[in-house]
Amino acid sequence: MTASEPIGILGGTFDPVHFGHLRLAEEAADGLGLSRVLLIPAALPNLRARPGTEAQHRLTMVRLAVQGNPRLAVDDRELKREGMSYTVDTLVELRSELGATSPFFLILGADAFLRLPAWSRWLELFELTHIAVATRPGYDLDGALGTSGELKGQWEARRVPEPVACAGLPSGRIVRLPIPLLQISATDLRARMSRAKSVRYLLPPAVVDYIAAQRLYVTE
Ligand code: ATP
Ligand code: MG
Repeated sequence: MTASEPIGILGGTFDPVHFGHLRLAEEAADGLGLSRVLLIPAALPNLRARPGTEAQHRLTMVRLAVQGNPRLAVDDRELKREGMSYTVDTLVELRSELGATSPFFLILGADAFLRLPAWSRWLELFELTHIAVATRPGYDLDGALGTSGELKGQWEARRVPEPVACAGLPSGRIVRLPIPLLQISATDLRARMSRAKSVRYLLPPAVVDYIAAQRLYVTE
């Protein structure tokens, strides 16, 4: 990866990774002209209600999922770091590695974007990256923005109509990323698996096979 090339950053718990994530990464690469999208699994917050799948399994599943796609890469830095994963810390690290001039695009589904004001040092994110907000079934971005004053303020100040308006700028803009709606969530996949229902065709076959071989998400 050379400096100054635009890169995408897609964080998540990936518990498990599914076609909603992968299609989002692929759409971002095409729509934003990214040569590379980094998928960055987060360490699970200790406060999360359910036990959660071990980090190593989540990481392995993401690695299996991106195999054979040269535009998608897995970055395990948040799992190596102690304690909670804060995206802002990850972006500071990536900036120091890749330089100040490469455009960064933090890729967020509409649900994640609408929770942004709860993130650690969220306003600093705009000094480090652009944000691309993807459509996601069940989340009405325009409707919900009306009820969040601080997020709406940033939206109105930073939103640009097309990705091309970010050209040459490393950070600071918000752009919509309209993608085909895929009604897939890891929560729903976990619920299906806990009832011993099939999840085939909702995530890559290699991940389906890994889950079966490791007996993940089985509740007995
Ligand atoms: P969970 O149900 O456990 O929260 P999830 O399916 O939402 O899992 P995450 O790991 O929380 O997956 O999501 C990581 C990122 O991918 C978030 O920005 C989220 O909005 C986005 N994302 C996940 N699934 C989709 C989807 N089907 N369409 C668009 N964006 C998605
Ligand atoms: Mg989620």
